Amino acid sequence: MKAAEFAYARALSVADAVALLAAAAGEAKLIAGGQTLVPLMAMRLARPALLVDIDGIAELNGIAMVGDTLRIGAGTRQAEIERSGLVGREVRLLALAIGHVGHGQIRNRGTIGGSIAHGDPAAELPLVAVTLGATLLTETSAGAGEISARDFYLGPMTTTLPADALITRIDLPIWRGRVGAGFHEMSPRRGDFALAAAAAQVELDGRGRCRRAVIGVGGAAPTPIACADAARLLEGRTLDDTLIAAAASAAAALTEPASDSHGSAEYRRRLTAVLVARALKDAATMARAVP
Ligand SMILES: Cc1cc2nc3c(=O)[nH]c(=O)nc-3n(C[C@H](O)[C@H](O)[C@H](O)COP(=O)(O)OP(=O)(O)OC[C@H]3O[C@@H](n4cnc5c(N)ncnc54)[C@H](O)[C@@H]3O)c2cc1C
Repeated sequence: MKAAEFAYARALSVADAVALLAAAAGEAKLIAGGQTLVPLMAMRLARPALLVDIDGIAELNGIAMVGDTLRIGAGTRQAEIERSGLVGREVRLLALAIGHVGHGQIRNRGTIGGSIAHGDPAAELPLVAVTLGATLLTETSAGAGEISARDFYLGPMTTTLPADALITRIDLPIWRGRVGAGFHEMSPRRGDFALAAAAAQVELDGRGRCRRAVIGVGGAAPTPIACADAARLLEGRTLDDTLIAAAASAAAALTEPASDSHGSAEYRRRLTAVLVARALKDAATMARAVP
């Protein structure tokens, strides 16, 4: 199939983009890397009257560390994030996850903002944002706003982002100290969306006990989930196999997986527990290696 007819406008700045969105009164869609929107339009699952192209807006690009925050412009390509030494050093969880997004060719065009705005429940970047409690900075013609990634997702491909809003930046917290991260997913073929995915980050104290932890699960519920109660089980304790297994089962109990041709709901729930345990073990091993 071919896309339905649409008008096209190239925004030259964020102000330009939000003015175009406001004027279109809900009939426009932003296009960034086009890796999701173009196939949806070709299948006529999306039929915007106007495409507002934000791909060339320089102010949406870039990765910078400001204090204990890593700021990533929404238009930054996934491949740039993957190659970034700053991301690799400061937010290891993102560095581990991003190579699982589709294939290299897709990451060359796809943007972090596009993936987070689209909100596929099995997508890696929304999962990292929810797990770490990222802040999404937004802009409309009425002004700037921000929202926690943990409050952003309402259901599959459904978010609280108003139709006239643009995500401009994703702010990720940087953890200092004896910090480790782990990310595991299972997909039918390399590059496919995950059947289930798990993300974890831990910080250890001087005695090797867990000072704080976050756990997130993707692909096993209508939205990515931050498993706060499961992570709390780890605090103040030594991360041994028994404790990790208990936290992994607590995380898996929060899932609401669906059955489909790739696996039953029960399989996905058990898979989630296995993946969370692996992510936590990797995170603990990485943190212990920090002097
Ligand atoms: C074959 C294939 C395999 C893939 N596999 C995976 C995978 O395994 N994991 C995964 O996570 N993704 C996967 N993807 C999707 C890919 O990661 C996309 O790059 C990403 O989902 C969308 O980014 P984009 O920049 O291309 O956004 P676009 O396609 O341009 O836009 C996607 C949506 O986001 C909106 N949008 C874009 N930018 C903004 C913004 N700044 N503010 C507000 N709204 C915005 C658009 O209006 C649109 O609704 C795959 C894609 C393909 C084609």
